[in-house]
Amino acid sequence: MATNYLIIGSGPAGITAAENIRTLDNRGKITVISEERVPMFYRPRIPEYAVGKLEIEDLMVKKMDFYDQKRIKLHLKVKAVRLDRERKFVETSDGQKYGYDKLLIATGIAPIKPPYPGSVLNGIFTMHYLFQAETIKSFVKEARHVVVVGGGLLGMDMAEELKKMGLEVDFLVRRQVFGDPFFDEYGCKLIKEEFDRIGVRVFTGTEVQTFEGVDGKLAKIMTKDGREIKSSFCFLSIGGSPSVDWLGESGLKIDKGILVDKHLQSTREGIFSAGNSAQIFDPILRKQIVQTNWFNAITQGHIAGNNIVGGKLIEYKSTTKYLKKVGTLSFNLIGLGNVLVEGGLRVYFKGANPREYILITVKEGVVVGAVVCGLPMIILKLKDTIEKQKVIPNLEKLIEQKEGALDAFLKILTYF
Ligand SMILES: Cc1cc2nc3c(=O)[nH]c(=O)nc-3n(C[C@H](O)[C@H](O)[C@H](O)COP(=O)(O)OP(=O)(O)OC[C@H]3O[C@@H](n4cnc5c(N)ncnc54)[C@H](O)[C@@H]3O)c2cc1C
Repeated sequence: MATNYLIIGSGPAGITAAENIRTLDNRGKITVISEERVPMFYRPRIPEYAVGKLEIEDLMVKKMDFYDQKRIKLHLKVKAVRLDRERKFVETSDGQKYGYDKLLIATGIAPIKPPYPGSVLNGIFTMHYLFQAETIKSFVKEARHVVVVGGGLLGMDMAEELKKMGLEVDFLVRRQVFGDPFFDEYGCKLIKEEFDRIGVRVFTGTEVQTFEGVDGKLAKIMTKDGREIKSSFCFLSIGGSPSVDWLGESGLKIDKGILVDKHLQSTREGIFSAGNSAQIFDPILRKQIVQTNWFNAITQGHIAGNNIVGGKLIEYKSTTKYLKKVGTLSFNLIGLGNVLVEGGLRVYFKGANPREYILITVKEGVVVGAVVCGLPMIILKLKDTIEKQKVIPNLEKLIEQKEGALDAFLKILTYF
């Protein structure tokens, strides 16, 4: 009999899995349920959509006939609210029950609720789902000034995009650095210079104390360091957590995300998780973490699709890789990035161009993390080196030379 596969979530993890299931099982029935209003889209470009630079079609990853061709039944605008493992079905917000033989949970991340008093005022936004971007889009047209809160990767994107749309931007960053903990201090200095050049006003070491409003609308923001910023528009990017609340009674083991083994199977047979909802074993950190980026979600989706069908199982072994552009700077954060592990050593390789460098973190003779600015030709090789824990020849000698050794490091990496 044909297998009935049910996938919750239509992001890169869910849809990549569906596509791979179809490649491996031509007879199976594949159903995808998603809260979203539109099929899979390129979420990293939502900031550009939110400021009106892109149309919805520009975000679409798959053509509409993809789902028909692959015989993937897509149910949008429905939320999974309960998993009944005993009777093997998922209940949705519209009261339907979807049965399954095998289940993949790929529900991603949802933004956390803002903890600041006054956060419900009109004019304060978070953004993860497309409908949130649509509300922001209509607001951006009228706005002249915005306060962006949160120096993470999304906060940086929005500060830049909103500035490019001609708004005055005040950017509140809680720590002294951006993208903590992945960016290093030199990278943060370059980023700060780039924001200065673009014209974004950055305030580090501060955050929101309260929001104050008039007639339900945001009027001003009081900061913890005593500033009062008048504004009717605030974009909050203060983090998210895996969308797994609905699984409370399911009996699945959940920590930050759904705990899965190296084959991405949960603690219950036949139920898998991939992407931002899954807590996977990171080969470099050697512990279970949630990897929150597009590239890893695709890789996990592909592997989960393979393993849910059965046959030859594939182990997930990828470490994190995150591409981040800020103005004309381009960073790749690989493995632990700037995170300093116990017993680790961080080494900079810089060259003649101050906007190109590599920072590596070395532990027990192998590289476990890197921040790379520019130098795109080296990224995949470095990722492979980190993931497979390869020993780089003469690494100790290069470390002794430090700053002058960028060219030598690149050469060795290219040819070994
Ligand atoms: C604004 C923004 C910018 C980003 N920029 C970058 C970037 O530059 N580079 C990068 O690598 N990554 C970036 N990311 C992260 C990247 O988009 C995610 O890591 C990736 O989308 C995760 O894929 P996923 O399939 O695990 O989850 P998601 O893409 O989040 O998809 C999960 C899907 O599940 C649905 N869902 C959730 N709960 C339920 C439920 N109970 N019932 C039904 N459906 C549900 C959601 O609606 C969603 O469609 C960004 C994310 C955001 C929000």
